[in-house]
Formats: sequence, C-alpha cells, structure tokens
Amino acid sequence: MWHASILTLFPEMFPGPLGLSLAGKALRDKIWRCDARDIRAHATDRHRSVDDTPCGGGAGMVMRPDVVDAAMDAALTEGVPRPALFLTPRGRLLDQALVRELSAGPGVVLLCGRFEGVDQRVIEARGLREVSIGDYVLSGGEVAALALLDACVRLLPGVMGAAESAEEESHGASALLEYPHYTRPVEWQGRSVPPVLLSGHHAEVARWRRAEAEKITRERRPDLWARHTGTETSARAIAG
Ligand code: SAM
Repeated sequence: MWHASILTLFPEMFPGPLGLSLAGKALRDKIWRCDARDIRAHATDRHRSVDDTPCGGGAGMVMRPDVVDAAMDAALTEGVPRPALFLTPRGRLLDQALVRELSAGPGVVLLCGRFEGVDQRVIEARGLREVSIGDYVLSGGEVAALALLDACVRLLPGVMGAAESAEEESHGASALLEYPHYTRPVEWQGRSVPPVLLSGHHAEVARWRRAEAEKITRERRPDLWARHTGTETSARAIAG
C-alpha cells in the first residue's frame, strides 16, 4: 500500500478533500494510506511549543529543529523507507516527472511548514527534498501537500479507470498540453462542437486532436513546446 505520512500542526486537514472521489475510493480500497501526524505531539516543554523567534531578529516564528526531527523519526521508523520532502516556496517546482517518480515508489513523508518556515539545520540534517507547488506563498504546507498527494494518488495502479486514463493528458510523455474537450449539446449559445469530432473518423479525430494540442502548447507554453520538439527530433534520430 502506498504510504503517505504528513507531518503537520493541523492533522485534521487530512485526508480532507482526498477522502472524496477517486482518492477517497482508493483510500477505502487500501490502495494508499494517509497518516497525518501532529508535530506538536513531539514538543517537550510544558507549553508544548513547536516554534521560537528567529535568530538574528525579524518578524514571525520558526519551527524548532528538535521537535521536527523527533516527528520525522517517528514517521520514518514506521513501514519501509520513503523519500522525505519539505514543502516550501524555495523548493524545486513540482512537475509531472516528480509526481510519476514519487507515485512509483513506496510513498512519501511530507513536512508541512507554518509561520516563517522550518529551522534550516533539520532540513539539511535530514536531507529533505525541498518542493514547491508554485511561485506564490501559501500560509502553510498542508494545501501544497494535498496537491502533491492528489497528483500522486491518481497515478497509483487501480485508481483511475479507463474512463479517466492518464495516457493523453497534459504533461505526459509528449510534453504537449491536452487538446480541448467537447460534449453535448452539439450547439450551445451559438457555439458548435467542431464537426470533425462528430464525423466518426477515428484517424481524423486523432489528427485534429494532435494538431490542437500542438497549437495550444506552442501558443501557451513555449518552454514545453521546445521540450516537445526536442523529444520528436531525438525520436526521429533514433529511428534513423
Ligand atoms: N517565509 C517563507 C518564504 O518566504 O519562503 C514562507 C513561509 S509560508 C508563510 C509557511 C509555510 O507554507 C512554508 O514553510 C511552506 O511549508 C508552506 N508553503 C508556502 N508556500 C508554498 C509553496 N508555494 N509550495 C509549497 N509549500 C509552501
């Protein structure tokens, strides 16, 4: 079973939305396990403090290394060894390649920061991989952890049925964004479904979708388009 341990000051935030829909069913089917752990349970003083003022002065509070370390110990000693990540706006950006890597492993241990963040020494001592979910600042790591878990859990074997296949999704092997989708009614507010999608010609539909995916990627994400054209060029070179 894929095992997610989340170290947080707000364990009641989990599984939260991941208790519903695909991830919730997978939780009930024991495809994955969501183990939210209260960092405060590892506080040792009589005030149960988990944070202190920043050395060097300045605003806010910093999470204590000793308390976080004890929480890490407790999580990591349970089950098989798993990669430990710290969610932080300073981390490498989460992308589908990292999601695929994590979902193919035994699970994750996620440290959620609060306040100004976590004492640097425990990040280094534990060799935590620092991961960001985007270039903006959240008030805590929990929402970032939920996003990462959602992306990983849907890739676990048995979670997505054929109806929700990941094969042609954005950020897949081709690096293309996905083509646009349409459903009924065929006419809506003066807008029509592109006729080719109603033609029944599978090859034509596939060609149209591919062309749309390429157009959207070229227009919206030149970085992905460059990666896509690089992949295509090397695939052609290998094929000779
Ligand atoms: N002082 C920090 C900075 O400027 O980088 C921001 C701290 S933020 C208010 C509190 C916590 O929210 C962080 O320690 C981190 O765990 C989490 N967090 C905020 N933004 C995030 C993001 N974009 N990705 C992942 N985690 C984030």
